[in-house]
Amino acid sequence: MSKPRVAFFDFACCEGCQLQVANFGEALLDVLKLIDVVEFREVMSEKSNEKYDIAIVEGSITTNHDIERIKKIRNTAKVLIAYGSCATIGGVNGMKNNFPLEKIKKYVYNKDANYFDTIATKAVHQVVKVDYFVHGCPIYQPEFIEVLKSALRGLPYKVPDYSVCVECKLNENECMYDKGITCLGPITRAGCNSWCINNGNICYGCRGMVTNPAKNAQMDVLDKYKIPLDWIKNKINMYNKAGEQAPEEK
Ligand code: SF4
Ligand code: SF4
Ligand code: SF4
Repeated sequence: MSKPRVAFFDFACCEGCQLQVANFGEALLDVLKLIDVVEFREVMSEKSNEKYDIAIVEGSITTNHDIERIKKIRNTAKVLIAYGSCATIGGVNGMKNNFPLEKIKKYVYNKDANYFDTIATKAVHQVVKVDYFVHGCPIYQPEFIEVLKSALRGLPYKVPDYSVCVECKLNENECMYDKGITCLGPITRAGCNSWCINNGNICYGCRGMVTNPAKNAQMDVLDKYKIPLDWIKNKINMYNKAGEQAPEEK
């Protein structure tokens, strides 16, 4: 039986999530036994010639040309996986949406602004149907493997819809707020095993917001530590400005 043909594509991004996949090490060899990679610009020069079963898409949609291209990919693929915050929630590219589009175009491209087909940043699901989401900036490798296995088996993958704090507590980390540092863990969806906090950093909200953020609890925390609400809003905007909440994951 032939293996599913898998093609990796990128839109506006830093390609860091592709690198994460390329750096899987032994886990990648296991994955390669299950699939035929027919296009993956970061690691090979071959092209899929539009023959693939699964499209794995990195990056945000930021031009009208991107819209045409992602629609074509969607029409070809039986399954579409969006991976990395740029693709799943707009990510850092969404910071552009904090400003009027014409103003930001002029700021970046100056007199050449009219030559650029830039639109407000969108996550992939805001343009085409997405079957699976792998959140994170960059993606958390174990989750990517889980999602890919689910897609290959035709099974659903449910992204956790509780906060990073849950994983953080299970990992017995000292809370950043107790050290006088702000952290978006209380309102950010888990699934990364509180990766950043385990390594001495804070949560920046790269996986997007949980469906029902505990706003009152977050406000209580801000009150307790005398932290201005604007600081938190700015942090949220870094990753979450473009994306609406991702729809119910498959
Ligand atoms: S999600 Fe982060 S690491 Fe991945 S492509 Fe976007 S900016 Fe790069
Ligand atoms: S606020 Fe941050 S550091 Fe504190 S428990 Fe939640 S995730 Fe961990
Ligand atoms: S801890 Fe927060 S910022 Fe770090 S990977 Fe997890 S969701 Fe992203």
